[in-house]
This record gives sequence, C-alpha cells and structure tokens, in this order.
Amino acid sequence: MPEGDAIHAAARRVGAALVGQPIESIETPQPRHARDRWPERLAGRGVRAVDARGKHLFVRFDGELTLHSHLRMGGRWGVFRRGERWRRSARRAWLILRTPEHDVVQFDGPVLELMTEGRNRFDRRLARLGPDVLADELDESGFLRRLREDDPARGIGEALIDQRNLAGIGNKWKSEASFLAGVSPWRRLSDVSEEEALRIVGEARRLMKASLDGDRADRGHGRRVFERAGLPCPRCGTIVRARGQGDDNRTTYWCPACQS
Ligand SMILES: [Zn+2]
Repeated sequence: MPEGDAIHAAARRVGAALVGQPIESIETPQPRHARDRWPERLAGRGVRAVDARGKHLFVRFDGELTLHSHLRMGGRWGVFRRGERWRRSARRAWLILRTPEHDVVQFDGPVLELMTEGRNRFDRRLARLGPDVLADELDESGFLRRLREDDPARGIGEALIDQRNLAGIGNKWKSEASFLAGVSPWRRLSDVSEEEALRIVGEARRLMKASLDGDRADRGHGRRVFERAGLPCPRCGTIVRARGQGDDNRTTYWCPACQS
C-alpha cells in the first residue's frame, strides 16, 4: 500500500505537470463516473495546486472545485510525457488529465471524487484525519492528545497506523520506525511514554522524508525488520519476528531483543 511519502511524491509529480498548464482534456473512462460530467464541470479551469494530506491527494482547480483521491491498496498516479507509453493498461485508468506536454493518469483508484472546497473542509472522513506525519512542522500535541484518547490497551504499532491518530504512516514505516526507536509495536499505549511515542514518529518522519527526497537506501533497500521475518536483526542478530496485529491483521515486524 502506498504510504504518505509515496503520496506526497505523487503530489509533487502531478503538481509539476499540471499547475499553471492549460488542461486540454479531462476523461473519466470508468462507467461509474459516466454521469458525473466532470469534463464539463472542469472545462476551462486551471489547476491551482496539488497537495497531499496523509494518504489523500487533492488536485485543486480554480473556482473552488477539488478532486480528492485515495489509492487504497493498489492504485497509482502516473505522469507521462505525451506519446510515452503508460506503464499500466489504459483500461485501468480512472482519470486522465492532458496538458500539451503530459498525460496525468490515476489508475485503479477506488476513491476519486470531485468536491467543492466547502465540502472538502467539512468532510467528516477528512476532518477525522490525524496530523500529517510529513507536515513541515509536526502537530505533536494534537498527535499525543489523539493517542491519549485511544484505547489504552491497544498496541502502539496498531495505533500508529490508525489514520485518525496520525495521517500518512503505514505498515512499513511503522515497523521500521518502531525498531529504530527501540519500542515494541506490541507495547500497550498505557505503557508508552509521550517521549517514546514522539521518538517513533521522529524516526518515521526522517525515513519518510528521505524516501520522499529519493534516497533509495531508505525506500526499502535498507530495510531493517520490515518483511525480514526469520532473518537476523541487523543490529543484534536475533531472529526478526512477524505477526498480524490489530483489527486489520496487518503484519507487523520486530526484533524481540532490540525492542521491548
Ligand atoms: Zn535486534
């Protein structure tokens, strides 16, 4: 699943292709959108900004209309030079925006909706999102308050990927950051200090910003525990473990010796 760093990177690429450029055409090939008339509603409008919050991406058009996208497990934003081959089948395209130089395509995106700025601001799902882990300045007090209001018996690993506590972090960075902070993802929230919670988030921010800025080592090639079950911990040699955690049973990875 794309995590916040991948979505922020997509927002940069999509923004670079669309902002300030004439939009020549807009297509919504899937039958689900046939009656939405987006091409008509968006005709003649420029793109003012493209930004991300957590795993959500927003394409903001002139005149208070915003496209909201969430890729869930398998979606992707592609930016291609006009004439370049798309790397996914055109049948999987949900949205195609064309400028004189680029095709910007959203593939396999189950959440794609056009909303007014007013609705966007008051949308309940978006209003419930926690602070963005990749915000320039992390809203630490907002994050800690949400953690305190969560179930104290919940494991910190599960709480960290709950987008209502913190937006943008997913399973990979949660596992890696917990390892670097030396905190077991299974520790109950009631036993995690504020300093420890912030230490994990600090590590996640550092890893995700490095990934966003194109550091391949931190994009997964330098993984310490994530998807390394059964292999020795790079720090102490103990065998890394993996087990499903939380209601969604997402696999969490940890070193039982380095993390307590
Ligand atoms: Zn270890």
